[in-house]
Amino acid sequence: MKIAVFGGTFDPVHLGHLIMAEQCREQARVDQVWFVPAARPPHKQDRTLTPFAQRVEMLQVAIAGQPAFRVEEIENERPGLSYTADTLHVLKQRHPGADLHLLVGSDSLRDLPLWREPARIVELASLLVTARTGFAVLPVEELRMLLQMPESIPVRMQVVEIPLIDISSRDLRRRAVEGRSLRYMVPRAVECYVTQHRLYRA
Ligand code: ATP
Repeated sequence: MKIAVFGGTFDPVHLGHLIMAEQCREQARVDQVWFVPAARPPHKQDRTLTPFAQRVEMLQVAIAGQPAFRVEEIENERPGLSYTADTLHVLKQRHPGADLHLLVGSDSLRDLPLWREPARIVELASLLVTARTGFAVLPVEELRMLLQMPESIPVRMQVVEIPLIDISSRDLRRRAVEGRSLRYMVPRAVECYVTQHRLYRA
């Protein structure tokens, strides 16, 4: 079974995320996309996140009706910071037959060499990359150089074409703080969830 593991903070999940996931499912022919919300992301320790359970609920309402999508709460099972290398390792142990792919935007791909154990990440999963406004997709050979991977170990990467969607969770949070509209940038159910739970209010 071909699985795309889609890690992110998803605070909140938005249409950019969902378009990525769906295009990846279709173009890379993955059987399932597993959304893996980060419990304690190492690179986002400077701000308070929406509680994990609420980010999971937003994901659940966002993906309802797409049987190929599911939410994996695996990163909340471990104490401490959430490292992608550990997550992929545990997923591989639990699903030994799974062909794991890691779905990342081109901004995250550029940061990958700075993540913990990046070489282990690309050994555990092949990369599915989508372009994000302002970030050219790093060519695979450049990535290999940055990771200092020997030629003997393949770095597997496929670019999945998506329409460029300049939406970010950060911008959505700012809009919510200002009482502005999120409509059509997040699924309706997520918009209602944010309003009902008064998320991102000052
Ligand atoms: P924030 O603004 O809070 O940093 P974000 O919108 O970047 O959040 P994340 O949950 O951190 O969303 O992103 C998870 C993954 O989705 C990352 O790999 C990121 O590159 C990708 N991504 C998010 N939004 C887009 C988008 N609009 N287009 C392409 N890739 C995206």
